[in-house]
Amino acid sequence: MNIAGLQKSSLLDYPSKIAAVIFTLGCNFRCPYCHNPNLITAVSSKKLIDETAVFDFLYSRKGKLDAVVISGGEPTLQSDLICIFEKIKNLGFLTKLDTNGTNPDILQKLINQKLVDYVAMDIKAPIEKYDKVVGRDVDLGAVKKSVEIIKNSGLNYEFRTTVVRSLLSIKDFEDIAEFICGAKNYYLQKFVSSVTLDANFSSEKTYTDEEFEKIKNILQKKITNVFVR
Ligand code: SF4
Repeated sequence: MNIAGLQKSSLLDYPSKIAAVIFTLGCNFRCPYCHNPNLITAVSSKKLIDETAVFDFLYSRKGKLDAVVISGGEPTLQSDLICIFEKIKNLGFLTKLDTNGTNPDILQKLINQKLVDYVAMDIKAPIEKYDKVVGRDVDLGAVKKSVEIIKNSGLNYEFRTTVVRSLLSIKDFEDIAEFICGAKNYYLQKFVSSVTLDANFSSEKTYTDEEFEKIKNILQKKITNVFVR
């Protein structure tokens, strides 16, 4: 697996658990607001982190960390992802996958083999705006399939959207609510200015707290729990 980063401890990435986060290299999307541009384009192999060193670290944290999160980039692009989840499970950790939902087959395998305990899937936009928002032609059938797999998985899960004002209108959330209708948990993530893939997005805005309340009300008609973070 191409590992571009390791966060040794996080209280934010797995609900109510202490987790390590492994960041994989490479992504099939080009979201202009992406905060991890160094994870989506090629870096020198010298900058990759040795997988053995990562597992040595995880072994040393048995009983101290609760969970391991695999994030990206897009982790499902890694050909040995299932094997990596297996190794992490064998160490006794809870596991979480962060994904953009473009690889439903890998997702289904991880679920069927009981290798993943929590899934977080990005919902980038209403279906008809996906290509524009992620900067790539998207297999929308795959994204829709992932949503259904996750909703029917019986696992703990969340859908989430980074909210950039210029990319998503308030009306768009009516369509997103329809798209993931019946979902359990959905998080609206306020875009925060920082380094972005497209430098023009570094000073983009999100909505005001009052506007987020309005968006929440729209979503709550179709989704059980809606949170803003
Ligand atoms: S924000 Fe978009 S481009 Fe960046 S890692 Fe996530 S899916 Fe890929």
